[in-house]
Amino acid sequence: MALPAESRGVRAAAFASWFLAWVSAELSSMSSLTEKDRPIVQLLWNTGTCPRCIFRFCCVGSQTPYKRPYKDLMKELKEFLKNNPEKEDAVCFEVADPPCKRIRLENTGEGPDDLNQNGVLKPIPLVNEENTALESSAVKVCNVCLGILQEFCEVDFVKKVCQKVKSADYQFTSFVFSVSLPPQLSVRERAAWLLVKQEMGATACPDCFKPAKNKQSVFTRMAVVKALEKIKEEDFCKHFPCPPSSPKNFCVALEIQCNNGAVFVAGRYNKYSRNLPQTPWIIDGERKLESSVEELISEHLMAEFKADSFNFSSSGREDVDVRTLGNGRPFAIELVNPRRIHFTAEEMKRLQQTINNSSDKIQVRDLQLVTREAIGHMKEGEEEKTKTYSALVWTDKAIQKEDVAFLDDLKELKLDQKTPLRVLHRRPLAVRHRIIHTMKSEYIDEHHFRLHLKTQAGTYIKEFVHGDFGRTKPNIGSLLNRTADILELDVESVDVDWPPTLDN
Ligand SMILES: [Zn+2]
Repeated sequence: MALPAESRGVRAAAFASWFLAWVSAELSSMSSLTEKDRPIVQLLWNTGTCPRCIFRFCCVGSQTPYKRPYKDLMKELKEFLKNNPEKEDAVCFEVADPPCKRIRLENTGEGPDDLNQNGVLKPIPLVNEENTALESSAVKVCNVCLGILQEFCEVDFVKKVCQKVKSADYQFTSFVFSVSLPPQLSVRERAAWLLVKQEMGATACPDCFKPAKNKQSVFTRMAVVKALEKIKEEDFCKHFPCPPSSPKNFCVALEIQCNNGAVFVAGRYNKYSRNLPQTPWIIDGERKLESSVEELISEHLMAEFKADSFNFSSSGREDVDVRTLGNGRPFAIELVNPRRIHFTAEEMKRLQQTINNSSDKIQVRDLQLVTREAIGHMKEGEEEKTKTYSALVWTDKAIQKEDVAFLDDLKELKLDQKTPLRVLHRRPLAVRHRIIHTMKSEYIDEHHFRLHLKTQAGTYIKEFVHGDFGRTKPNIGSLLNRTADILELDVESVDVDWPPTLDN
């Protein structure tokens, strides 16, 4: 079922005026129905179908007649049925409309359907309940649409929708208006269609009566549509009256919801603390550390974008006690249902400054708006990328400069790494093959040296140093023929060339 109240690509500024114009537009005469429609009009009219539903079943594709006030439509439809040329020589109605098509308001069609700028009006769920204005003024509830095309096409309801959109205070350049219909509507639709088909032997415009393909469908709605697809016509008629019975109550609109498409912000972060996890560290519902990288960044974004929630992702991650230095680690944050979406480069720069001023544990650079698709660059080819680290190494037996110097000559060292004991509780047991591309040692004293490493992404550095009880082979301990341990680890660089570098 295609409601006329469905639209895409209408610009924000035009929203209210367009919507009102849509409802109150003038029409010179009821030229949309032709003489060949008369039997269908009469049949549906007799069974309690509303004028706008009658238009739909007569395949009236033009928007104009649907926009007319309900009262006028009733009056004119009565006139139309009274002026039967078979009884008297009444005026025949002109055919002034384009050929049958799905009723759909493809209005201005301006502006790209950009995810970042795509306002979405959530479906207005409609249910069959009691008491409405139309009912009280003794209007018969349509047996096909339950009054949805009676009351909800009138100016009062449209004004309500406009008010809701305005008060929700969203920035947007285009929007989608969708309506969530009660599942029983599909059944009534089918019954009415079968009636028309049986009584008239009609074969016209089957396209008009395809079941709704509503993205926001719930299971029950899907089930109804599925069942209607399967059921034979004669079986359907056994279970449901054709024409559909006249309902006692109008549908009521449960709520009008507004929702905006997500926007994405990317950048790089440095982490200067050895006491800060990347994401909230919670074990058995108990928080272990009070903050995290993602929270320090996203709390400011959430406030500025006025979003409902966020999703943080990054190119790899560091342990809680590992710092990330150099140009930092690429990250992206999805902001869900943001009210504000338009930011200038200058405003993004200020936002970055706000984040950086708020904490000395992290710093952010290259903060920018990106598309959902671009985030793929951050994850793609992650395995092939290289990372550089700096590790402070301790040895049990005393070392001289010469004892560690040979490490500088080892190139493309192949490692076999069994899943480390420390992550075995969340990762399956496997052997990873990784490569240490280059190493450079920096002697400190008899028990300490600093090791700079350039490795394939995904190498377990801590395990390469201490050996993880022989689970990583070779390791620094086995290479030096000593027991070695790692005291500090820093990420010096993450070689992912996304997001683009900004000159700030
Ligand atoms: Zn109706």
